[in-house]
Order: sequence, then structure tokens, then C-alpha cells
Amino acid sequence: MDSFDICIAGAGVAGLALAHRLAERMPTASIVILEQESSFGQHTSSRLSEVIHAGIYYPEGSLKARLCVAGKQALYRFCETYQVPYRNIGKLIISQHKADPGLEQLKAKGHRNGVEDLQLWDQERLLQAEPNLQAAAALYSPSTGILDSHHFMATLLRLAETAGVTYAARTEVTTIHPIDSGFDVETKIFNAGKSDSYILNAKCFINCAGLQAQSLAMRVEGVDEASIPSQHLCKGDYFDYGGRNPFQHLIYPLPEPGLAGLGIHSTQDLAGRLRFGPDTEYVGEIDYRINPAKQAGFAEAIQRYFPSLDPTRLSPAYAGIRPKLSGPGEPPADFCIHGPGSSGLPGLLQLFGIESPGLTASLAIGDYVTDLVSEVTI
Ligand SMILES: Cc1cc2nc3c(=O)[nH]c(=O)nc-3n(C[C@H](O)[C@H](O)[C@H](O)COP(=O)(O)OP(=O)(O)OC[C@H]3O[C@@H](n4cnc5c(N)ncnc54)[C@H](O)[C@@H]3O)c2cc1C
Repeated sequence: MDSFDICIAGAGVAGLALAHRLAERMPTASIVILEQESSFGQHTSSRLSEVIHAGIYYPEGSLKARLCVAGKQALYRFCETYQVPYRNIGKLIISQHKADPGLEQLKAKGHRNGVEDLQLWDQERLLQAEPNLQAAAALYSPSTGILDSHHFMATLLRLAETAGVTYAARTEVTTIHPIDSGFDVETKIFNAGKSDSYILNAKCFINCAGLQAQSLAMRVEGVDEASIPSQHLCKGDYFDYGGRNPFQHLIYPLPEPGLAGLGIHSTQDLAGRLRFGPDTEYVGEIDYRINPAKQAGFAEAIQRYFPSLDPTRLSPAYAGIRPKLSGPGEPPADFCIHGPGSSGLPGLLQLFGIESPGLTASLAIGDYVTDLVSEVTI
């Protein structure tokens, strides 16, 4: 049986950033990262807006606020160091009211989180920057950007493997049995339509399974089910826009209270192609198909700030699913990271509810979890 110091389940952006940070900071530890799909980042980490968030929206002191702000800085440095394509294009959070207290409140919230560069823009300033935008005022966030998330993940994996991390795709963790010296990790390896069972041993097991984190937690023998936070799947659909992109910045409406997302915003990829979304819809299962009938609702929401939109040029693009810990109408929940001992098993760490801003925060999540791993005897 192969033995490792640390086994990570899940090669989304959280597992990959963690593998990279662990390999950098604990160079003598043997580390394996297991991924059930044929390649890394096939789920939430490739079904997103690719935005580097500033850290404005989250409650002061929350993990989301702290790890987003620290993660943003680390991510910009990482992109520079390793030539990951990115653009610091900035974002406008807009209101249709001239003196909207919502914008002021958001600015103050951002400031409390350490986002100190936010600027309130009046309509004149706004129209100079974005003449095609219909809005009365905005909050400008210069530190918001976009990146090539696939390139980022591929770089994380390359660095981790170069530092000695073992990566196994097509390997699903099925059951985790606690033993005296850690865990026996049972897996299924898929190859050419067949599957083989394989067991490895690890002193520390880290659940980074994203949408499957709760179901994997239930497969760790001895974990009290009551300690596993409940999960609510919240789908977000995107529509591509085939017309000309008139915007220089990312454009976000002011979030409505109680909304599970940030509102149907305009984002763009590094080639400048415009895309709108994601909306919010609580769903019962993981199904990434998009309902084309949503087009009219998208057009109506977008035309509030982009009146010259041609609705016929909207076409379904892709969907992502948020692994939320809060249900409809409940206040937003924070990231939930169970450290060693929190489930009664030293050596077990679990990440739940890594929704937005998980991409931005990923390197800081990697550092945070590495600090927790250093408490485990390996
Ligand atoms: C619509 C949408 C838009 C978003 N936009 C942004 C954004 O613009 N900026 C931002 O910062 N964040 C954004 N996010 C959040 C971000 O996408 C997530 O926080 C991040 O991708 C979560 O990464 P993860 O590694 O936790 O999960 P995942 O990417 O889902 O990775 C989990 C991995 O675990 C694997 N796995 C599961 N079970 C097992 C098992 N038993 N054995 C082995 N492998 C397993 C899965 O196959 C998967 O590859 C967005 C999210 C959504 C849904």
C-alpha cells in the first residue's frame, strides 16, 4: 500500500492551490491529490465568472472577507510571477439613483474589509468612462480584475508536481477509514470503461470535494453527521452576447437584499467577449443544462443598465452551481473550514461552502489550510 503524509481529495482550484502551498511550505511532506474526473477543475472551478474580486461584499472579519482580500493580492502576484494571463480592468457597481445610500454602505463595508481604493462616481464621471451605460451613480473598484482560470489551475498543478506532489486523475475517493496512524483511503480508479479498487494510506486527509464535500464527509467513518453543514445547490446560468462589447469595466448592479448572488452582471473574458450572468436558482441536483427560455428575463435585467442591448444576440453559454451553506431567504453563510480535531479525528480537514469568492481566495485558502495542517503530527 502507498503511504503519504497528506492526501487531498478534489483537484478544483481549492485543492490545487492547497497542494501548491503545502508543497512550498512543507517541502519534506509527501502529498497526493486525487481527482475523480479525467482532468482537474471540471466542476465549479471552470463554471464561473473568472473575476478577481476586491473583497467588498462580505461581513467584516469573515473568512470570505479576509481570504478574499489576502487571496486577491496573492493572486495578482502569482499571475505576474508565473505569466498567468490577467487584466486588472476594474469594476463598476451601479445604481439608478443619484445619491444611493446602498453605494455608500458598500464603500464603507469594503473599507472595513481593507479595500481602501473604492471611489464613488457621479453620473458625469460614469458616462465619461462608460458612455453606453445607463446609471445615475456608481462605486468604482479599481482592484477588481479578470484572469484565465484554466491557465491558473494548470500552473498550480505544474508547480505542485514539480515540487513532488503526486496527482492522480480518474481516481474517486469512496471511503475513508480512520486508523491509528491516520487514514486508509479507499479509491476507485477508472480506466477504459473499467474501475479498479485501490487503497492508500495518509496521515492527514483533506476534503476539497466542492459540490461533493458533504457526501464525501459522510463517507468518513466515525464522523458525526450532525457536524456536517447542510448543503444548498444554487445554480447560476450565463448567456454570451454576440454583439459588440461597449464596456471597459465589469458592470454589476447593486446587489438586492436577500439575493443569493451578485445580480446579473456583465463580465468579459480576456479577449473582451461579453457575457452576462450568473442568475440564481436553487436546484435539487447537479445539472449544468441551461434553460434557453431564461433569455427574456436576462434581457430585461440587462436592459435596465444597457438599454441598447440586442436581445436576439444573447445565447445560452454555460452554468455553474454554488455549493451554498445557506438556503433560500437565509442570510449568506461564510466559508466553513473544519480543522484538525473539529470532527473528533485528528488529521481530518474539510472545506465546505467554498462558493464565490473561492477562486480569488484560493491561494489564501491554501495558506490558511496549510497553517491548520502544520498542527497535525506528520
Ligand atoms: C456561477 C459561479 C460563478 C463564480 N464566479 C466566481 C468569480 O468570478 N470569482 C471567484 O473568486 N469565485 C467565483 N466563484 C466561486 C468559485 O468558482 C469556487 O469557489 C471555486 O471554484 C471552488 O473550488 P473547489 O475546488 O472548492 O470546488 P470544485 O471546483 O468543484 O472542485 C472540487 C473537485 O473535487 C472533485 N471531487 C469531488 N468528489 C470527489 C471524490 N470523491 N474523489 C475525488 N475527487 C472528487 C470534483 O470532481 C472537483 O474537481 C463562482 C462560482 C459559481 C458557481
